[in-house]
Amino acid sequence: MNNAKTALVTGSSSGIGYGIAKILLKNGYQVVIHGVESQEQAAPMLKDLFSIGNVLGYYSVDVSNAPSIEQFYSDLQSANITIDILVNNAGIQYVAPIQEFPIQKWDQILAINLSSAFHFTRLLLPAMQKQKWGRIINIASAHGVVASVNKAAYVASKHGIVGLTKVAALENAQNGITCNAICPGWVLTPLVEAQIEKRASEQEISIDQARSNLLLEKQPTGQFATADEIGEYVAFLCTDSAAQINGASLTIDGGWTAQ
Ligand code: NAD
Repeated sequence: MNNAKTALVTGSSSGIGYGIAKILLKNGYQVVIHGVESQEQAAPMLKDLFSIGNVLGYYSVDVSNAPSIEQFYSDLQSANITIDILVNNAGIQYVAPIQEFPIQKWDQILAINLSSAFHFTRLLLPAMQKQKWGRIINIASAHGVVASVNKAAYVASKHGIVGLTKVAALENAQNGITCNAICPGWVLTPLVEAQIEKRASEQEISIDQARSNLLLEKQPTGQFATADEIGEYVAFLCTDSAAQINGASLTIDGGWTAQ
């Protein structure tokens, strides 16, 4: 009989989510992999994850609307998969001043970065409550603690998920369930690479210069945090030693929010 706990990491086809899935697999958890990419697009990264540990499958689901998340939940139930650990990680970014911010981008960012976490939480909580054990870990951001210009939707969504984290923690404090937010600073993933490329082209500077400027503006260490480091943080929050860490916003940002 396999007693390993099962984690769902949303947005684990890339970047931080991939790092979290990898570290959880290395620690013996069963992991459901998810992303918006097709099975075919996800195949190379899935091959790597299957070689590390017990992957329970890849689910290609757009989480920008409630019905598709509900269908995903029902597919998990049909496959007899109960989620003990939920990592709400899927997220996107768009950069523009408020007066130029496209309404469609605002709606999309709030839906993917914030509302999806609400939907997954409301659907998966009852099973955690029943078994009196669960972990919900929301990947927020340094932008869940402080703001930056030109990121209205992202900053609003990340402050929102920090609020959702606190409510979920309080409502379940006596159910053996913890809910925490991890707030990373810069991590070099496709989401950040796109911002570096945009800066390089707008400011007519090299990619190397744009990368170094981006880091030095915010992250005092001058170094990126890594997806593996965030994965290790998640793995620790899943242990019994972390049972009293609840409702917290945990920064991993090289000192960004200490300023
Ligand atoms: P990424 O672009 O590498 O990965 C994004 C993931 O989200 C992918 O797996 C993608 O499939 C999924 N996704 C995107 N749109 C989706 C949709 N409509 N439906 C379903 N899944 C969708 O990005 P990342 O940098 O790894 O970001 C992951 C999370 O970490 C995000 O919530 C982001 O806000 C947060 N974060 C990133 C950084 C950073 O510096 N990279 C810093 C702080 C917080």
